[in-house]
Amino acid sequence: MKMAKAIALYSGGLDSTLATIVMLRLGVEVTALRFLTLFGCDMGEKVAYLHDDVPHAQQFGFKIKFCHLGQPFMDLVKNPKFGHGKNMNPCVDCRILMLKEAKRLMELTGADFLITGEVIGQRPMSQRRDSFPVIDRQAGVEGLVLRPLCARHLNPTLPEINGLVDRQKLYDFNGRSRRPQMALAQRFGLENYQAPAGGCLLTDPIYSYRLKELLVHDPDPTMRDINVLRTGRHFRLSTTCKAIVGRNEGDNDFIETQVTTEDITMQVETGGSPITLLTSSTGNVEQGMLQMAAALTARYSDSKRQEVVDVTVFRGIDRLVVKIPVQPASEETIKRLRIEEQGAKVSLKPVRV
Ligand code: SF4
Repeated sequence: MKMAKAIALYSGGLDSTLATIVMLRLGVEVTALRFLTLFGCDMGEKVAYLHDDVPHAQQFGFKIKFCHLGQPFMDLVKNPKFGHGKNMNPCVDCRILMLKEAKRLMELTGADFLITGEVIGQRPMSQRRDSFPVIDRQAGVEGLVLRPLCARHLNPTLPEINGLVDRQKLYDFNGRSRRPQMALAQRFGLENYQAPAGGCLLTDPIYSYRLKELLVHDPDPTMRDINVLRTGRHFRLSTTCKAIVGRNEGDNDFIETQVTTEDITMQVETGGSPITLLTSSTGNVEQGMLQMAAALTARYSDSKRQEVVDVTVFRGIDRLVVKIPVQPASEETIKRLRIEEQGAKVSLKPVRV
């Protein structure tokens, strides 16, 4: 008998790993499809969103393929057909896009159906009994998406109807508790899975606010400008200029990885100091912006109590441009410029692409 084949939407988290294992144990050959976006898929790991989940693939015997959703994902973050969740997360549109991509792989590889680790009632927006059919219809995969962890609450799918999968061996989990999944993981010998988390960076209110603020000023930001939203303190200096000031060594290291040869960075060289990255959506930085960014850099350095601090300005990381003597920024200036929900000076408008 021909072995059934499935493509799994696989985040590397507990639910999608369990769904994959359930299918493997029923004799289905599974290819796990891992989607990448600029926003990660796990709040627990905001910096690096690529988890080391290959050991699970080796232990249980499935392949992982990666797919970057790129600009199409960015477009729907800006203007989702089904709206945003509580923050900037366009979960329904996101699932539709993922299923469309998974369907393409299914057709390319001759797979029979798709699986997801979704559980009814686990997420308020995309994991509801009434949202599953809408998502499947919009993605053009009606009847083809098996959700093994909650399948017995849902109508039978084509692989169940056609006898590829025994419905009685599927599960009836529902709700937000992860206890049944954890018990199942123990039964399967699944260890070292990521702690269940709330979603990608777009579900984080602080991150979402920064992203909205960026889109208001620059509807078409670079990948770098989006990447740095996850780190440091952010200040709006003008409609086109921002300063990103590292909070600690980790932030400084991350900022350094994002700097291009033409960017302006700054630092106080005489002691502990943040690295500050000055970004401009037009590529032009006026003298006043340099002064302001330097004052912020001084304010967060070990020299913040000095009257005047010398801040070194670089092109890229290490091409010295100039030293600017500045007074460290006052609390009032920080409040005025800082991009955060309380006290941000911009009003946010919906972004249309
Ligand atoms: S949290 Fe929502 S928007 Fe983010 S990756 Fe998951 S489904 Fe997509």
